[in-house]
Amino acid sequence: MKKTAPLLIIVSSPSGAGKTTLCKMLLKTFGDLRFSISHTTRPPRPKEVDGRDYFFVSDKEFDEMVENDEFIEWAHVHGNRYGTARKELRSAALDGFDLLFDVDFQGAVRIKEQHPEAIGVFVLPPSIEELQSRLSKRGTESLEAMQRRFKAALEEIKHTRQFDYLLVNDDLDTASRNLRSIVRAERIRQARMQYLADEMLQM
Ligand code: ADP
Ligand code: 5GP
Repeated sequence: MKKTAPLLIIVSSPSGAGKTTLCKMLLKTFGDLRFSISHTTRPPRPKEVDGRDYFFVSDKEFDEMVENDEFIEWAHVHGNRYGTARKELRSAALDGFDLLFDVDFQGAVRIKEQHPEAIGVFVLPPSIEELQSRLSKRGTESLEAMQRRFKAALEEIKHTRQFDYLLVNDDLDTASRNLRSIVRAERIRQARMQYLADEMLQM
């Protein structure tokens, strides 16, 4: 059982920069890090699984959750709604897991307002051209959705100052290694480890 509150790691990026890929790699490394599964009104992509990638819900279900104040934060992103349920945080704390959020900049700001100790990592593509190329190669979006996401990318990039780390995802292994380093370093911050020294002093 952890002696401190869960470490909250927020990863944001423009669509196509590689944050889903990087988050998946990170979760493979740290068995005690859990992915915060968001709720969304967006339809699932072919390989996505309900309850693993997202909770895919109807507009009505989403409305009900908003009315019942079940979200820490929610936002309109690329024409759909996405939200982080409060229960994700509660259950991570209860089970002794750190928590990884994949949310847009609006979600990152809202989570930080309520949990100022949360760590924000913004993933930047090596260039705008490469971002466009990754988004189109991924092939999950219609041309219209892709254009919408690409336009939103520049808006997202305007918010990098609200994050603690800017991680350039050029070479995937390097970016993944840097993300692991962030988690390792943040886990040994003095405030998170002080309980060990306090325990020794009480002996
Ligand atoms: P996001 O979650 O930020 O929208 P994804 O993780 O889905 O982005 O990545 C977008 C596409 O780019 C995917 O096809 C992924 O395999 C690819 N990709 C991710 N990181 C890199 C990288 N460093 N170099 C080349 N391609 C990458
Ligand atoms: P996608 O449709 O590509 O899975 O996600 C689109 C955008 O929505 C990404 O920027 C992703 O980080 C963001 N997103 C996913 N879940 C949430 C959430 O719960 N809240 C917010 N604010 N954004 C989210």
